[in-house]
Amino acid sequence: MTPPTAQDDFEVWFLTGSQHLYGEETLRQVAEQSRGIADQLSHAQPAGAPAIPAKLVWKPVLTDHDAIRRTILEANADDRVIGLVAWMHTFSPAKMWIAGLSALDKPLLHLHTQANVALPWATIDFDFMNLNQAAHGDREFGYMLTRLAVPRKTVAGHVSDPRVVEQVATWTRAAAGWAATRSLRLARFGDNMRYVAVTEGDKTEAEAIFGVQVNTWGVNDLVAAVDAAAPADVDALVAEYEDTYDVATELRRGKERHQSLRDGAAIELGLRSFLEGGGFGAFTTNFEDLGGLKQLPGLAVQRLMADGYGFGAEGDWKTAVLVRAAKVMGAGLPGGASLMEDYTYDLTPGREAILGAHMLEVCPSLTSAKARLEIHPLSIGGREDPVRLVFSADAGPGVVVALSDLRDRFRLVANVVEVIPPAEPLPRLPVGRAVWRPEPDFQTSVTSWLQAGAAHHTCMSTAVSIEAFADYARMAGTELLVIDETTTERGFENQIRANAAYYRLARGI
Ligand code: MN
Repeated sequence: MTPPTAQDDFEVWFLTGSQHLYGEETLRQVAEQSRGIADQLSHAQPAGAPAIPAKLVWKPVLTDHDAIRRTILEANADDRVIGLVAWMHTFSPAKMWIAGLSALDKPLLHLHTQANVALPWATIDFDFMNLNQAAHGDREFGYMLTRLAVPRKTVAGHVSDPRVVEQVATWTRAAAGWAATRSLRLARFGDNMRYVAVTEGDKTEAEAIFGVQVNTWGVNDLVAAVDAAAPADVDALVAEYEDTYDVATELRRGKERHQSLRDGAAIELGLRSFLEGGGFGAFTTNFEDLGGLKQLPGLAVQRLMADGYGFGAEGDWKTAVLVRAAKVMGAGLPGGASLMEDYTYDLTPGREAILGAHMLEVCPSLTSAKARLEIHPLSIGGREDPVRLVFSADAGPGVVVALSDLRDRFRLVANVVEVIPPAEPLPRLPVGRAVWRPEPDFQTSVTSWLQAGAAHHTCMSTAVSIEAFADYARMAGTELLVIDETTTERGFENQIRANAAYYRLARGI
């Protein structure tokens, strides 16, 4: 199995609504123009980012109830299809859409656009008006979407507007992340860390809501895969480490601690073969349950995350799901995604910041610099000293997202952050880490986070924006509380209270 983030097969279908009222010539023009819009979107390049990360497939213009329903059922049944874009170029009476929309099982983007930018004031006649009437055709469609409570993203504007392309691209990334979540198989090695609350959760409900299959294997199943690693493969992987990282002298070939690096390589080979063999896209470990593993997996976990696997420490499968989704959403973009943990603060007045890290398992996709490969003692876990990559995350915009199980529902909480360079070197902190300033300010951010009951483990993404997570949450039908530059403590508290009522009502009896 290739993990992870390959999106070559993903398709988004472009649907155009019309009706038979206008005659064949108008429908021919509708088809030609909507094909042009789809084409323009496919070839658009949002500023500084790759084109829309899925194949945009134009479908013949839909003009009646049966064709609409059949097309949507086909989209549902096709695993390549991650979402639908719909545009009513003319007027498409929306009762024709009821059966199709009622069956819809894929994310929907309502693109409210039109073929022309400017009005041709001097030549406009009623043929033009009949052809270009999305302004009210899309309102009829919006009415039906709202009446049927179909979740969707609405994007308005001409496709030559980069903001429109950017919104469609972001939604497409979210749809890819959502498709990956729905098909995700997640392997837990051991259970959650003993006595910890927030990493627990209802795995059955998670499968019902997110589609993810979360199951547990004994860690010694993993040990067997590690023991099966061939010495020649270990040699090759160690050589790759030496090419890729700045390897500490004591770990190099012929040096006193080289065997520890070989042990780390064997753990990576075993873990990778186990995950590939089972078709897993995410996993968890637990330092309390290492069985016959010689080291707590550090380097191996970091490298697998860098290849696109989701990961959560201490059995935290919910964060592993988020990391996997973020990997797929951000594929091909600068920046990365990782397990993160709010560790400790700089409370210097006026420059408060959060230092995030973990025992070992922070993904090197957060840095563009060459990571250093080192070995140090770890007081936790009771095994041999683990090898690990050491680096600081690149400065720039980011988002941290957490998933909690509130018993009656899942809650996502996201904070928009600015990753900053560490104020000073960290010569005695041998782990991957990130330092950030949370929006809107330290006090509002952490107060809101605590009020929301959001977790201490997060997924940090420096590749996709809060918008992608908002689109993802809408697709999942899951609550998302956002802490950003507009947040106030009072407003946030009221939002939590309103959401408690809304989500309870929305769930029904
Ligand atoms: Mn932790």
